[in-house]
Amino acid sequence: MTREGNLDAPTRHPVAWRDPEFYDRDAFYKEAERIFDICHGCRRCVSLCGAFPTLFDLVDDGKTMEVDGVEKKDYWKVVDQCYLCDLCYMTKCPYVPPHPWNVDFPHLMLRGKAIKFDSGETTFRDRLLTSTDKLGKLATIPVVVKAVNWANNAPAARAAMQATLGVAAEAALPPYAPATFRETAPASLAWPARDGDRAPGRVAVFATCYVNYNEPGIGADLLKVLSHNEIPYVIVASEACCGMPKLELGDFPSVERLKNINIPVLAGYARDGYAILAAVPSCTLMFKQELPLLFPDDPDVQLVADAMFDPFEYLVLRDKDGLLRKDFTRPLGNVSYHIPCHSRVQNVGQKTREALEWIPGTSVKTVERCAGHDGTWGVKKEYFAMSMKIGKPVFRQMTQDGPDYVSSDCPIAGRRIVQGAAAEGAARARKEHPLTLLRIAYGLD
Ligand code: SF4
Ligand code: SF4
Repeated sequence: MTREGNLDAPTRHPVAWRDPEFYDRDAFYKEAERIFDICHGCRRCVSLCGAFPTLFDLVDDGKTMEVDGVEKKDYWKVVDQCYLCDLCYMTKCPYVPPHPWNVDFPHLMLRGKAIKFDSGETTFRDRLLTSTDKLGKLATIPVVVKAVNWANNAPAARAAMQATLGVAAEAALPPYAPATFRETAPASLAWPARDGDRAPGRVAVFATCYVNYNEPGIGADLLKVLSHNEIPYVIVASEACCGMPKLELGDFPSVERLKNINIPVLAGYARDGYAILAAVPSCTLMFKQELPLLFPDDPDVQLVADAMFDPFEYLVLRDKDGLLRKDFTRPLGNVSYHIPCHSRVQNVGQKTREALEWIPGTSVKTVERCAGHDGTWGVKKEYFAMSMKIGKPVFRQMTQDGPDYVSSDCPIAGRRIVQGAAAEGAARARKEHPLTLLRIAYGLD
């Protein structure tokens, strides 16, 4: 007899993206109809994003009021509303494997996106926005960076970008930095590495495109926190984008190309006993969870996954090993902290909150909802309004008590929270990344 709901720990099947049937539309429709029917009977996820309300409206407006009344061409409307945050799988669904119903809604959506990409339906805008590494390299050329930052804030230029590229004119875009993190990161002092039982005593820092090109200060603050704790570090010798933006497009060939650049380098650090840290949750998740499901037969991918840590996950483990300083000198007051979806689904708990609560004179309010930006999805013209609607409860909750700081592990979500809160008329709070808050609390400049 089929059990109602799972009592076992969820497992996830590898993604069969090399199998030609993966791209077969009829096979996709058949599997989508099966899963949509289970979701129609369940409807637990209706408030998570736009994909589920789109599906349920299609069912309710159809001839039969069942999934068989939905036209197959309309399935793509559901696919387009999913930004692969993984929340439905990781936090809501009782029917994920090993339950025999085997519901993996995000991977069904990923398959749909891959079919669209494979058949050339992806737009130039989508390919451009997901080329974070190439865009960053171009935009941070010294003579270009000022012009790009000016254009990103000039209403006329933004209107032109919306008309030609489909990038929403109202969406705040992050500025590019005049110098990258990788160019400016100071070398570590040669402290002896002290390995703990739970985490290695030396760190390799994977910069990430965002920290490297947009907010190098976050990376600099991570290095200051490591230095304060006498943890020797290196900046990863060479790196490319983690591949998450390309995954969200269903562009598996690009994901594989990027993986082939990153994994041999990172596996070398893993073999040498380094913890690998990346300060953007989506990038950490890509190495920890997505690449192992895409390349299950590559032992180096698993090696890197095992050595990859969220920075706060790492710091909490160091604390448990008795190897972290807690000599905080500056209270932070009231901090509104947002835990992003891609941190939640790493299944490591709320490590950033835990660390911020160490700081005397600091009270932390945690907001655990999607802020609606979701990679490149929330800056697209056709999704911007929906994205702001999804984020609205977060914008309100983050600012309603007049906090001293608002903070999110995801720097892009942090920017969206500031934009959304301003749109809601909330008093402007100081936004800082949690690593910056830790650096401030340690009294480091
Ligand atoms: S992965 Fe996220 S965006 Fe996609 S359907 Fe699930 S909750 Fe919605
Ligand atoms: S993904 Fe799972 S929990 Fe969500 S609506 Fe579908 S069956 Fe229900």
